[in-house]
Amino acid sequence: MLRLESVRKTYGRGTVVLRDVDLAVPAHTVTTLIGASGSGKSTLLRCAGLLEEIDDGAIFLDGAEITDPRSDADSVRRRIGVVFQAYNLFPHMTVLDNITLAPRRVHGMPRAQAEARARELLERLGLGGRGGEYPDRLSGGQQQRVAIVRALAGRPRLLLLDEVTAALDPELVGEVLGVVRDLKEEGMTMVIATHEMGFAREVADQVCFLDGGVVVERGTPEQVFGDPQHDRTRQFLRRII
Ligand code: ATP
Ligand code: MG
Repeated sequence: MLRLESVRKTYGRGTVVLRDVDLAVPAHTVTTLIGASGSGKSTLLRCAGLLEEIDDGAIFLDGAEITDPRSDADSVRRRIGVVFQAYNLFPHMTVLDNITLAPRRVHGMPRAQAEARARELLERLGLGGRGGEYPDRLSGGQQQRVAIVRALAGRPRLLLLDEVTAALDPELVGEVLGVVRDLKEEGMTMVIATHEMGFAREVADQVCFLDGGVVVERGTPEQVFGDPQHDRTRQFLRRII
């Protein structure tokens, strides 16, 4: 479903952040991105979500090249849901308005339809009845779940999650990871950057280890965690686990 071919990304005057990154994410599978801080995980997700331009290479979604200048970037972005660590809910808007803003404005969905969909998703993520509240009345874990609902509201084909538990107190991490597990059960295709190694291993069909903007190793969780082939992977895992 998502494919990166020789993707290269630099910032400023030639700081290379992604070097010839190849990655294939089949439909209905979960790929986790692991690697030290600064290894390029967020940049990879931002490029895949068309939130950053790449310098070289190509990215394909469902076989079509989305990095082709002739491709309709807005329509591609509508098919991709993105959730970041800082959930960025609008504080002056209710939960329901936060969720329905994009479907109404961007997708042109009628309010009643957008709200019905939002209520159904809130219910599914354990937030039924909270739609009328303002974000500051919710816990961090609840706010992060609202951010996930917001990403799902446009019925994305692909979900990109960047450190969705990093800003949460430890006791709230579990509820958000539970939501991600449920989405996997439902067959959602996801790419997830995370520092939670236990989760990266458990939820993944494919694990991708990045180091200095290079995909050093990728494989099943059993391969990458259980029998890493590269020194750099072994060093990273030894340090972190
Ligand atoms: P973390 O685990 O800390 O989230 P990461 O693996 O997500 O790290 P990135 O955020 O992708 O890493 O950053 C990769 C490199 O790109 C870093 O060296 C970072 O300093 C650099 N970088 C990221 N964003 C920018 C930017 N907007 N301008 C310049 N350099 C950037
Ligand atoms: Mg990051």
